[in-house]
Amino acid sequence: MTEEDRILNATEQDEDRNDLGLRPVALEDFQGQTDVKHNLRVFTDAALGRGAPLDHVFISGPPGLGKTTLAGIMARELGTEFKITSAPALEKPKDLAGLLTSIGERAVFFIDEIHRLRPAMEEMLYVAMEDFELDWVIGQGPAARTVRVPIAPFTLVGATTKPGQVAGPLLSRFGISLRLELYSHEEICEVIRRSAGLLGLKIEESAVKAIAQGSRGTPRVANRLLRRVRDFAEVLGDGTVSEPVVRHAMKRLDIDAMGLERHDRFILRTIIEQYGGGPVGAETLAISVGEAVDTLEDFYEPYLIQCGFIKRTPRGRLATARAYEHLNMKSRVDENEQFLL
Ligand code: ADP
Repeated sequence: MTEEDRILNATEQDEDRNDLGLRPVALEDFQGQTDVKHNLRVFTDAALGRGAPLDHVFISGPPGLGKTTLAGIMARELGTEFKITSAPALEKPKDLAGLLTSIGERAVFFIDEIHRLRPAMEEMLYVAMEDFELDWVIGQGPAARTVRVPIAPFTLVGATTKPGQVAGPLLSRFGISLRLELYSHEEICEVIRRSAGLLGLKIEESAVKAIAQGSRGTPRVANRLLRRVRDFAEVLGDGTVSEPVVRHAMKRLDIDAMGLERHDRFILRTIIEQYGGGPVGAETLAISVGEAVDTLEDFYEPYLIQCGFIKRTPRGRLATARAYEHLNMKSRVDENEQFLL
C-alpha cells in the first residue's frame, strides 16, 4: 500500500482540496484547541485595534490539525489578503522576493514546512520580517551592489511539523508561537458533527463516536473517514450513518477500534518481533518498515505515542505493554514497562 492510498494518512490529498466546504473560515467554527483560539482572538483584536499588522506567528504540530486553516482564519479575522506557499516550492530567492513584493498591506503570508527553507531565503526573510524590506542584489561580480526595497508590512505565518529543525535566528523572529496538539476524543466528535451537518448527513451519535475512535485525533483524518463511511451508508443502507455501518466500513478499510491501520500495526509488530520490543533507533526502524524517517516521525509516531503504544526514549523506540496487549502478543514487559525475565 502506498502512502497516498492510506485513508488515515494525515497529509493533504486531492480529495481534501476538493472539499474546501468543510474548512472552518471563522474562529468560532474551528473546533477544539481552546487555548490557541483564545490567544489568537486577543492578538488579532489587539492588532486590529492598533491598525498594525499582527505579529509574526509560528505554528507547529503534526499534519492535518489545522495549521493552514488557522492561518486563513487569521487573514479573515484581520480582513486582509491571504497568500500561501510552502518552503519546498521556493526554489530561488527571486521566488520569495516575487511573493513578498506583491503582498498587500497587512496581508497574512503563510509558508508551510518552514523548516525546509533554504539558507539564502532564510536570510531574506530575516530582513523582511524585521524591517519590511528586501535586500536585493543588482548586477554581478565586483559591480554587484545591494539595494534595499521596501515591502508592505505583513504577518508571516510559518508552519512546521518539525519545530526542532527550524533555525534559531528564524524562530526568534516570530512574536507568537502556537503549538497544536492532537485533538481529544470529544473535540474530534465536534469536528465530525460539524462536518456531517455541512454535508447534510443523517448520523447517529454512536456513529460519531465510532468514527472519532478511528480518526487518530486528527480533523483531516476524521473528515476523510466520514466521507468514506458516507459511501458505505449510501450503498449498503438508506444513507443514515449508524454505528454498524461505521464498524462495517472500518473493518473493510482495515482500521481497528483504536484507529490503527495495517501499516501502524506492522510498525508495532516490527519493533516487537524484530527488535525484541525495542529500544530501536528511528533510522533503523524506518528502514525496517520501508518509510522515510520523517514520515515515521511525523505521520505514524505521534498517534502511536498518544495511544501509549510506543515510547520515545534516548536509546530509541520502545513498544509498551499496551502494544503487546493490543496485538494479542505475549509481553516481555509488565504494565510499568519493566522487563520480565
Ligand atoms: P495542516 O495545515 O495542519 O496540515 P489543515 O489546516 O489543512 O491542516 O486542516 C486539514 C483539514 O482539517 C481542513 O481542511 C479542515 O477541514 C479540517 N480541520 C482542521 N482543523 C479543524 C478544526 N479545528 N475544526 C474543524 N475542522 C478542522
